[in-house]
Amino acid sequence: MFRAQVRRFADREIEPKVTEWNRRGITDREIWKRMGAEGLLGPAMPEEYGGGGGDFLYDAIVMEELSRRRAHGLMTAVHTSICLPYIRDFGTPEQKKRYLPPAIRGETLVGICMTEPGTGSDLANVQTRAVRDGDHWILNGAKTFISLGQLGDLFIVVARTDPAAKPAHRGISLILVEADTPGFVRGRKLEKLGLPAQDTSEIFLQDCRVPVTNLLGGEGNGFKILMEKLQQERICIAVSAIASCRRALDDTIDYVKQRRAFGQPIAAFQNTQFKLAELATQVEVGQAFVDQLCVAHVRGDDVVMEASMAKWWTTDLQKRLTSECLQLHGGYGFMMEYPIALDYADAAVQSIYAGTNEIMKVLIARRLGLDPTRA
Ligand SMILES: Cc1cc2nc3c(=O)[nH]c(=O)nc-3n(C[C@H](O)[C@H](O)[C@H](O)COP(=O)(O)OP(=O)(O)OC[C@H]3O[C@@H](n4cnc5c(N)ncnc54)[C@H](O)[C@@H]3O)c2cc1C
Repeated sequence: MFRAQVRRFADREIEPKVTEWNRRGITDREIWKRMGAEGLLGPAMPEEYGGGGGDFLYDAIVMEELSRRRAHGLMTAVHTSICLPYIRDFGTPEQKKRYLPPAIRGETLVGICMTEPGTGSDLANVQTRAVRDGDHWILNGAKTFISLGQLGDLFIVVARTDPAAKPAHRGISLILVEADTPGFVRGRKLEKLGLPAQDTSEIFLQDCRVPVTNLLGGEGNGFKILMEKLQQERICIAVSAIASCRRALDDTIDYVKQRRAFGQPIAAFQNTQFKLAELATQVEVGQAFVDQLCVAHVRGDDVVMEASMAKWWTTDLQKRLTSECLQLHGGYGFMMEYPIALDYADAAVQSIYAGTNEIMKVLIARRLGLDPTRA
């Protein structure tokens, strides 16, 4: 029933706007409020804060239906499935009361500032500083590649609160920063290869003072919390990757049936059939693994290794699949008027964010007992 509701909403309110958002290079706040009113921004959030009281499977349905409509620019998953769980699980009662209800209604959008110009994969190396000054933290630093960087209202900022901590990651904390705080400065919206409607931006913190009560999850606990929460982020990417693959594949199957060469549909060539048969098989294999992973995650199993496996494998598949499908479109595949061209460009980032695919393999290898430094 929930999927049917999301489908109806996405058909009516989202799909018709995707091209316009891509052209403008940003989505609009109105759609967030509409999604909030429809209960799509917090289906897994507690009912007492206005959420749906469900679990991650509801989030996964929203992600699948948005990916199906190529609404990648919205990135509601960053807000709903990545950021809000930090507040739900580690926020104080006051933080939850202040921040969750407007976020679930789509009135305030929440993003996360981890990455810096000098550090991405090596998260323990963040240089943004938060210095205690009485009842405030004073933040200074530069962040980059921040999703929702222009539209966001509240950001979870990863900052170093103890530069002397050993190991260094024990000196990292999470601090909630409202975007209208003096010293929170939005930088450029970055020009990108894909995801044109996503407002990925630079963010600067310049003597930005926030109350000490904005500390999220306790001083020095930031890295530990990130390591826990990044699992769900990786599963989100895998869910969206498989759903995006399905859409690209379905559209390509339609195309090859219509396009003719040498007196027959290109679907009749054995190469076309074999390529699409292989890809369709891989999508089903990936879907089965991701579905099983989602259920294990909701059950509370330790899915660190499986989430990393799903993230690298499905995004790798998405990159191969969009490349093969583009090839089957011939020259039209290179034209932006055919969605496969943007599918191909959008796929490129999937193996990079939420932990690069190389980092996923480092984590898997560690779980396989292959890292002698962690034996
Ligand atoms: C569109 C977009 C949206 C994003 N949104 C956000 C956001 O909302 N918030 C946020 O904080 N960040 C965001 N990011 C940042 C993203 O998470 C980082 O780009 C990513 O973690 C990689 O970091 P990096 O770019 O610094 O690459 P680097 O860490 O410099 O990596 C460069 C290359 O080196 C490889 N490498 C690094 N370390 C190892 C290793 N140990 N072993 C093997 N290979 C290694 C990497 O795999 C990669 O191939 C976003 C990025 C993009 C492109």
